[in-house]
Amino acid sequence: MNQLPNFVEAMKQLIANPSISSMHDSWDQGNLTIIQLLATWFEELGGQVDIQKVPDTRNKFNLLVTLGSGEGGLLLAGHSDTVPYDENKWQSDPFQLRDDNDKFYGLGTCDMKGFFAFILQVCQRINIKQLKKPLYILATADEETTMAGARFFAQSQAIKPDVAIIGEPTSLVPVVMHKGHMSHRISVEGKSGHSSKPSAGVNAIEIMHEVIGALILLKSTLSTQFSNQAFDVESPTLNLGAINGGDNANRICGHCTLDIDMRSLPGMSDEDLISLLAETLSKLAVKYPGRISFDELHLSSPSFEQHKPSELITIAEEISGCACCAVNYATEAPFIQQLGCQTIVLGPGSIDQAHQPNEFLAHDQIEKTDKLLLALIKRYCY
Ligand SMILES: [Zn+2]
Repeated sequence: MNQLPNFVEAMKQLIANPSISSMHDSWDQGNLTIIQLLATWFEELGGQVDIQKVPDTRNKFNLLVTLGSGEGGLLLAGHSDTVPYDENKWQSDPFQLRDDNDKFYGLGTCDMKGFFAFILQVCQRINIKQLKKPLYILATADEETTMAGARFFAQSQAIKPDVAIIGEPTSLVPVVMHKGHMSHRISVEGKSGHSSKPSAGVNAIEIMHEVIGALILLKSTLSTQFSNQAFDVESPTLNLGAINGGDNANRICGHCTLDIDMRSLPGMSDEDLISLLAETLSKLAVKYPGRISFDELHLSSPSFEQHKPSELITIAEEISGCACCAVNYATEAPFIQQLGCQTIVLGPGSIDQAHQPNEFLAHDQIEKTDKLLLALIKRYCY
Protein backbone atom coordinates (compact mmCIF):
# COMPACT_ATOMS: atom_id res chain seq x y z
CA MET A 1 0.00 0.00 0.00
CA ASN A 2 3.03 2.22 -0.28
CA GLN A 3 1.76 3.92 -3.40
CA LEU A 4 -1.16 5.47 -1.57
CA PRO A 5 -0.70 9.18 -1.03
CA ASN A 6 -0.97 10.79 2.40
CA PHE A 7 -3.64 13.40 3.08
CA VAL A 8 -1.74 16.41 1.72
CA GLU A 9 -0.49 14.55 -1.35
CA ALA A 10 -4.01 13.25 -2.09
CA MET A 11 -5.42 16.75 -1.71
CA LYS A 12 -2.70 18.08 -4.01
CA GLN A 13 -3.54 15.58 -6.74
CA LEU A 14 -7.29 16.07 -6.44
CA ILE A 15 -6.89 19.84 -6.80
CA ALA A 16 -4.39 19.50 -9.67
CA ASN A 17 -6.95 17.64 -11.82
CA PRO A 18 -9.56 20.17 -12.93
CA SER A 19 -13.18 18.97 -13.08
CA ILE A 20 -15.19 22.13 -13.59
CA SER A 21 -18.81 21.75 -14.51
CA SER A 22 -20.70 24.60 -16.05
CA MET A 23 -23.70 25.24 -18.26
CA HIS A 24 -21.29 27.20 -20.51
CA ASP A 25 -19.47 24.98 -23.00
CA SER A 26 -16.27 26.98 -22.73
CA TRP A 27 -15.97 26.13 -19.01
CA ASP A 28 -17.43 22.64 -18.86
CA GLN A 29 -14.90 19.84 -18.40
CA GLY A 30 -15.03 16.07 -18.03
CA ASN A 31 -14.45 14.45 -14.64
CA LEU A 32 -13.02 11.10 -15.74
CA THR A 33 -9.45 11.88 -14.64
CA ILE A 34 -10.47 12.56 -11.08
CA ILE A 35 -12.84 9.59 -11.01
CA GLN A 36 -10.00 7.32 -12.22
CA LEU A 37 -7.62 8.78 -9.67
CA LEU A 38 -10.04 7.99 -6.86
CA ALA A 39 -10.77 4.55 -8.32
CA THR A 40 -7.05 3.69 -8.38
CA TRP A 41 -6.56 4.71 -4.76
CA PHE A 42 -9.58 2.87 -3.39
CA GLU A 43 -8.85 -0.21 -5.47
CA GLU A 44 -5.40 -0.25 -3.93
CA LEU A 45 -7.13 -0.25 -0.54
CA GLY A 46 -9.04 -3.38 -1.51
CA GLY A 47 -12.26 -1.69 -2.58
CA GLN A 48 -14.52 -2.80 -5.39
CA VAL A 49 -14.88 0.07 -7.82
CA ASP A 50 -17.67 0.74 -10.24
CA ILE A 51 -17.39 3.64 -12.70
CA GLN A 52 -20.63 4.51 -14.43
CA LYS A 53 -21.23 6.89 -17.28
CA VAL A 54 -23.99 9.33 -16.38
CA PRO A 55 -26.60 9.56 -19.16
CA ASP A 56 -27.45 12.93 -20.70
CA THR A 57 -24.16 14.50 -19.68
CA ARG A 58 -21.11 15.52 -21.63
CA ASN A 59 -19.09 12.42 -20.82
CA LYS A 60 -19.33 12.56 -17.03
CA PHE A 61 -18.96 9.66 -14.63
CA ASN A 62 -19.99 8.53 -11.15
CA LEU A 63 -17.76 6.33 -9.03
CA LEU A 64 -19.03 3.91 -6.41
CA VAL A 65 -16.51 2.21 -4.15
CA THR A 66 -17.53 -0.69 -1.92
CA LEU A 67 -15.31 -1.68 0.97
CA GLY A 68 -16.40 -4.79 2.83
CA SER A 69 -19.66 -6.52 2.08
CA GLY A 70 -23.08 -7.33 3.46
CA GLU A 71 -26.24 -5.35 4.01
CA GLY A 72 -26.78 -1.82 5.29
CA GLY A 73 -23.65 0.07 6.22
CA LEU A 74 -22.52 3.63 5.66
CA LEU A 75 -22.38 5.74 2.51
CA LEU A 76 -19.98 8.69 2.35
CA ALA A 77 -20.99 10.75 -0.65
CA GLY A 78 -19.75 13.84 -2.42
CA HIS A 79 -19.42 15.47 -5.79
CA SER A 80 -16.31 15.27 -7.95
CA ASP A 81 -16.85 18.55 -9.81
CA THR A 82 -16.19 22.18 -8.93
CA VAL A 83 -17.57 25.49 -10.11
CA PRO A 84 -15.56 27.72 -12.51
CA TYR A 85 -13.23 30.37 -11.04
CA ASP A 86 -12.37 34.06 -11.43
CA GLU A 87 -8.79 33.94 -12.58
CA ASN A 88 -8.02 37.55 -11.67
CA LYS A 89 -9.31 37.21 -8.16
CA TRP A 90 -7.19 34.22 -7.14
CA GLN A 91 -3.93 35.08 -5.44
CA SER A 92 -2.42 31.78 -6.56
CA ASP A 93 -3.03 29.04 -9.11
CA PRO A 94 -6.42 27.49 -8.20
CA PHE A 95 -5.12 24.08 -9.34
CA GLN A 96 -1.99 24.12 -7.22
CA LEU A 97 -2.50 23.33 -3.57
CA ARG A 98 -1.02 26.14 -1.47
CA ASP A 99 -0.41 25.64 2.23
CA ASP A 100 -0.32 29.02 3.88
CA ASN A 101 -1.61 30.68 7.01
CA ASP A 102 -2.87 27.37 8.45
CA LYS A 103 -5.05 26.91 5.40
CA PHE A 104 -5.00 24.78 2.26
CA TYR A 105 -5.91 26.92 -0.74
CA GLY A 106 -7.19 25.54 -4.04
CA LEU A 107 -10.34 25.11 -6.13
CA GLY A 108 -12.31 22.29 -4.51
CA THR A 109 -10.42 22.16 -1.20
CA CYS A 110 -13.62 22.72 0.76
CA ASP A 111 -16.30 22.26 -1.94
CA MET A 112 -15.59 19.40 -1.95
CA LYS A 113 -12.79 17.31 -3.43
CA GLY A 114 -10.98 17.63 -0.10
CA PHE A 115 -13.59 15.35 1.49
CA PHE A 116 -12.24 12.42 -0.55
CA ALA A 117 -8.71 13.04 0.74
CA PHE A 118 -10.11 12.73 4.27
CA ILE A 119 -11.90 9.49 3.44
CA LEU A 120 -8.75 8.05 1.87
CA GLN A 121 -6.72 8.94 4.93
CA VAL A 122 -9.21 7.40 7.35
CA CYS A 123 -9.59 4.25 5.24
CA GLN A 124 -5.84 3.68 5.49
CA ARG A 125 -6.15 3.57 9.26
CA ILE A 126 -9.00 1.07 9.59
CA ASN A 127 -8.91 -2.67 9.13
CA ILE A 128 -10.96 -3.13 5.98
CA LYS A 129 -10.98 -6.92 6.28
CA GLN A 130 -12.80 -6.69 9.59
CA LEU A 131 -15.65 -4.51 8.34
CA LYS A 132 -18.93 -6.17 9.29
CA LYS A 133 -21.07 -3.95 7.09
CA PRO A 134 -20.16 -2.21 3.85
CA LEU A 135 -18.55 1.20 3.67
CA TYR A 136 -19.56 2.86 0.41
CA ILE A 137 -17.91 5.90 -1.15
CA LEU A 138 -19.74 7.73 -3.90
CA ALA A 139 -18.27 10.46 -6.10
CA THR A 140 -20.88 12.05 -8.35
CA ALA A 141 -20.79 14.16 -11.50
CA ASP A 142 -22.28 17.56 -12.30
CA GLU A 143 -23.54 18.50 -8.85
CA GLU A 144 -22.76 22.13 -9.54
CA THR A 145 -25.02 22.23 -12.61
CA THR A 146 -27.78 19.64 -13.08
CA MET A 147 -27.12 17.13 -10.26
CA ALA A 148 -27.31 14.55 -13.05
CA GLY A 149 -24.90 12.19 -11.26
CA ALA A 150 -26.91 12.00 -8.04
CA ARG A 151 -30.24 11.77 -9.91
CA PHE A 152 -28.91 8.85 -11.95
CA PHE A 153 -27.44 7.12 -8.90
CA ALA A 154 -30.72 7.43 -6.99
CA GLN A 155 -32.63 5.92 -9.92
CA SER A 156 -30.26 2.97 -10.13
CA GLN A 157 -31.01 1.99 -6.49
CA ALA A 158 -27.73 0.07 -6.62
CA ILE A 159 -27.19 0.00 -2.86
CA LYS A 160 -29.21 0.33 0.31
CA PRO A 161 -27.01 1.64 3.11
CA ASP A 162 -28.42 2.27 6.59
CA VAL A 163 -27.17 5.83 6.60
CA ALA A 164 -25.59 8.38 4.26
CA ILE A 165 -23.37 11.37 4.97
CA ILE A 166 -22.90 13.99 2.28
CA GLY A 167 -19.62 15.71 2.99
CA GLU A 168 -20.47 19.21 1.72
CA PRO A 169 -18.80 22.01 3.69
CA THR A 170 -21.01 22.52 6.76
CA SER A 171 -18.18 23.39 9.16
CA LEU A 172 -18.83 19.93 10.63
CA VAL A 173 -22.33 20.88 11.79
CA PRO A 174 -25.01 18.29 10.90
CA VAL A 175 -27.44 19.74 8.37
CA VAL A 176 -30.83 18.04 8.33
CA MET A 177 -32.90 20.39 6.21
CA HIS A 178 -32.60 22.59 3.18
CA LYS A 179 -34.83 24.31 0.68
CA GLY A 180 -35.54 23.16 -2.84
CA HIS A 181 -34.73 25.17 -5.92
CA MET A 182 -36.38 25.63 -9.29
CA SER A 183 -36.09 28.13 -12.14
CA HIS A 184 -38.66 29.00 -14.76
CA ARG A 185 -38.83 31.20 -17.84
CA ILE A 186 -42.09 33.02 -18.40
CA SER A 187 -42.65 34.01 -22.02
CA VAL A 188 -45.05 36.57 -23.36
CA GLU A 189 -45.82 36.47 -27.06
CA GLY A 190 -47.10 39.84 -28.32
CA LYS A 191 -47.34 41.19 -31.83
CA SER A 192 -44.77 43.62 -33.13
CA GLY A 193 -45.59 46.67 -35.20
CA HIS A 194 -44.77 50.34 -35.74
CA SER A 195 -44.79 52.29 -32.52
CA SER A 196 -46.82 55.04 -34.14
CA LYS A 197 -49.83 52.72 -34.36
CA PRO A 198 -50.24 50.90 -31.02
CA SER A 199 -53.55 49.30 -32.02
CA ALA A 200 -51.80 47.34 -34.80
CA GLY A 201 -49.77 45.31 -32.32
CA VAL A 202 -49.80 43.71 -28.87
CA ASN A 203 -47.09 44.97 -26.58
CA ALA A 204 -45.41 42.04 -24.79
CA ILE A 205 -43.69 44.32 -22.26
CA GLU A 206 -47.02 45.74 -21.17
CA ILE A 207 -48.40 42.23 -20.61
CA MET A 208 -45.23 41.29 -18.77
CA HIS A 209 -45.81 44.29 -16.54
CA GLU A 210 -49.08 42.68 -15.43
CA VAL A 211 -47.34 39.31 -15.05
CA ILE A 212 -44.77 40.92 -12.75
CA GLY A 213 -47.53 42.49 -10.68
CA ALA A 214 -49.15 39.07 -10.24
CA LEU A 215 -45.79 37.47 -9.33
CA ILE A 216 -45.10 40.10 -6.68
CA LEU A 217 -48.48 39.28 -5.17
CA LEU A 218 -47.57 35.56 -5.23
CA LYS A 219 -44.28 36.41 -3.55
CA SER A 220 -46.08 38.07 -0.65
CA THR A 221 -48.61 35.21 -0.44
CA LEU A 222 -45.69 32.77 -0.13
CA SER A 223 -44.11 34.78 2.66
CA THR A 224 -47.32 35.16 4.66
CA GLN A 225 -48.77 31.67 4.20
CA PHE A 226 -45.76 29.39 4.60
CA SER A 227 -43.04 29.45 7.20
CA ASN A 228 -40.45 27.24 8.84
CA GLN A 229 -38.54 28.78 11.73
CA ALA A 230 -35.55 26.48 11.30
CA PHE A 231 -34.47 28.70 8.37
CA ASP A 232 -33.06 32.20 8.67
CA VAL A 233 -35.21 33.08 5.65
CA GLU A 234 -38.33 31.43 7.04
CA SER A 235 -40.56 31.44 3.97
CA PRO A 236 -40.30 30.10 0.43
CA THR A 237 -38.82 32.75 -1.87
CA LEU A 238 -39.52 33.95 -5.38
CA ASN A 239 -36.93 36.01 -7.22
CA LEU A 240 -37.36 37.95 -10.45
CA GLY A 241 -33.92 37.29 -11.92
CA ALA A 242 -33.64 38.39 -15.54
CA ILE A 243 -35.83 40.08 -18.09
CA ASN A 244 -35.48 40.35 -21.84
CA GLY A 245 -37.74 41.89 -24.43
CA GLY A 246 -38.03 44.02 -27.50
CA ASP A 247 -35.37 45.42 -29.79
CA ASN A 248 -36.07 49.03 -30.63
CA ALA A 249 -37.76 52.04 -29.08
CA ASN A 250 -39.89 52.59 -32.18
CA ARG A 251 -41.25 49.05 -32.39
CA ILE A 252 -44.08 47.51 -30.42
CA CYS A 253 -42.40 44.80 -28.35
CA GLY A 254 -43.33 41.41 -29.82
CA HIS A 255 -41.70 39.10 -27.32
CA CYS A 256 -40.62 39.29 -23.70
CA THR A 257 -39.21 36.71 -21.28
CA LEU A 258 -38.71 36.77 -17.54
CA ASP A 259 -36.56 34.24 -15.63
CA ILE A 260 -37.53 33.59 -12.04
CA ASP A 261 -36.39 31.23 -9.32
CA MET A 262 -38.38 29.79 -6.42
CA ARG A 263 -37.12 28.04 -3.32
CA SER A 264 -39.50 25.67 -1.57
CA LEU A 265 -39.58 24.69 2.09
CA PRO A 266 -39.29 21.06 3.21
CA GLY A 267 -42.71 19.45 3.13
CA MET A 268 -43.63 21.50 0.07
CA SER A 269 -43.34 19.58 -3.18
CA ASP A 270 -42.09 21.02 -6.46
CA GLU A 271 -45.59 20.43 -7.80
CA ASP A 272 -47.09 22.58 -5.02
CA LEU A 273 -45.00 25.58 -6.05
CA ILE A 274 -45.52 25.01 -9.76
CA SER A 275 -49.28 24.87 -9.33
CA LEU A 276 -49.20 28.16 -7.38
CA LEU A 277 -47.28 29.70 -10.29
CA ALA A 278 -49.70 28.24 -12.83
CA GLU A 279 -52.67 29.54 -10.86
CA THR A 280 -51.12 33.02 -10.69
CA LEU A 281 -50.60 33.12 -14.45
CA SER A 282 -53.91 31.49 -15.35
CA LYS A 283 -55.93 34.63 -14.53
CA LEU A 284 -53.85 36.63 -16.98
CA ALA A 285 -53.98 33.83 -19.53
CA VAL A 286 -57.75 34.31 -19.65
CA LYS A 287 -57.24 37.99 -20.39
CA TYR A 288 -54.50 37.29 -22.98
CA PRO A 289 -55.32 33.89 -24.50
CA GLY A 290 -52.40 32.00 -26.00
CA ARG A 291 -49.86 34.70 -25.15
CA ILE A 292 -48.41 33.63 -21.79
CA SER A 293 -46.49 30.41 -21.16
CA PHE A 294 -43.83 29.12 -18.78
CA ASP A 295 -41.17 26.42 -18.93
CA GLU A 296 -38.66 24.94 -16.56
CA LEU A 297 -35.18 26.41 -17.21
CA HIS A 298 -33.52 23.30 -15.79
CA LEU A 299 -34.52 20.31 -13.69
CA SER A 300 -35.53 21.33 -10.19
CA SER A 301 -33.83 20.10 -7.06
CA PRO A 302 -36.23 19.16 -4.30
CA SER A 303 -36.19 20.37 -0.72
CA PHE A 304 -34.65 18.06 1.85
CA GLU A 305 -35.46 17.01 5.38
CA GLN A 306 -34.23 14.14 7.50
CA HIS A 307 -37.21 13.54 9.75
CA LYS A 308 -36.82 13.17 13.49
CA PRO A 309 -36.50 11.07 15.49
CA SER A 310 -33.45 9.81 13.63
CA GLU A 311 -30.71 7.78 15.21
CA LEU A 312 -28.27 9.24 12.69
CA ILE A 313 -29.07 12.79 13.80
CA THR A 314 -28.59 11.84 17.46
CA ILE A 315 -25.27 10.17 16.71
CA ALA A 316 -24.03 12.97 14.43
CA GLU A 317 -24.89 15.57 17.06
CA GLU A 318 -23.12 13.53 19.70
CA ILE A 319 -19.95 12.96 17.63
CA SER A 320 -19.74 16.48 16.20
CA GLY A 321 -20.76 18.18 19.43
CA CYS A 322 -23.08 20.45 17.42
CA ALA A 323 -26.86 20.70 17.25
CA CYS A 324 -28.31 20.02 13.83
CA CYS A 325 -29.49 22.90 11.67
CA ALA A 326 -31.11 23.98 8.40
CA VAL A 327 -29.32 25.75 5.53
CA ASN A 328 -30.43 27.79 2.53
CA TYR A 329 -28.34 26.12 -0.19
CA ALA A 330 -29.34 22.95 -2.06
CA THR A 331 -27.40 19.65 -2.07
CA GLU A 332 -27.66 16.12 -3.45
CA ALA A 333 -29.24 14.98 -0.17
CA PRO A 334 -32.84 14.61 -1.46
CA PHE A 335 -31.59 12.24 -4.18
CA ILE A 336 -29.33 10.19 -1.91
CA GLN A 337 -32.22 9.92 0.55
CA GLN A 338 -34.21 8.17 -2.18
CA LEU A 339 -31.98 5.12 -1.57
CA GLY A 340 -34.09 4.69 1.54
CA CYS A 341 -31.42 5.60 4.09
CA GLN A 342 -31.24 8.16 6.89
CA THR A 343 -29.33 11.06 5.33
CA ILE A 344 -27.59 14.17 6.59
CA VAL A 345 -25.14 16.70 5.18
CA LEU A 346 -22.00 16.99 7.30
CA GLY A 347 -18.52 17.88 6.13
CA PRO A 348 -15.34 19.88 6.67
CA GLY A 349 -14.80 23.47 5.55
CA SER A 350 -17.15 26.40 5.47
CA ILE A 351 -19.80 27.18 2.87
CA ASP A 352 -18.54 30.80 3.10
CA GLN A 353 -15.45 29.72 1.15
CA ALA A 354 -17.33 27.63 -1.41
CA HIS A 355 -17.65 29.17 -4.89
CA GLN A 356 -15.29 31.97 -3.80
CA PRO A 357 -11.86 33.05 -5.07
CA ASN A 358 -9.07 31.76 -2.82
CA GLU A 359 -11.25 28.90 -1.59
CA PHE A 360 -9.59 27.19 1.35
CA LEU A 361 -9.88 24.47 3.94
CA ALA A 362 -8.57 25.47 7.37
CA HIS A 363 -6.08 23.13 9.05
CA ASP A 364 -8.24 23.07 12.19
CA GLN A 365 -10.76 20.92 10.29
CA ILE A 366 -8.33 18.05 9.79
CA GLU A 367 -8.25 16.41 13.19
CA LYS A 368 -11.96 16.94 13.80
CA THR A 369 -12.92 15.44 10.42
CA ASP A 370 -10.67 12.42 10.98
CA LYS A 371 -12.25 11.74 14.33
CA LEU A 372 -15.75 12.21 13.01
CA LEU A 373 -15.33 9.90 10.01
CA LEU A 374 -13.61 7.28 12.12
CA ALA A 375 -16.39 7.36 14.71
CA LEU A 376 -19.09 7.07 12.03
CA ILE A 377 -17.35 4.14 10.33
CA LYS A 378 -16.92 2.38 13.67
CA ARG A 379 -20.56 2.95 14.53
CA TYR A 380 -22.08 1.82 11.23
CA CYS A 381 -19.62 -0.66 9.71
CA TYR A 382 -18.14 -2.61 12.64
ZN1 LIG B 1 -20.59 21.35 -3.07
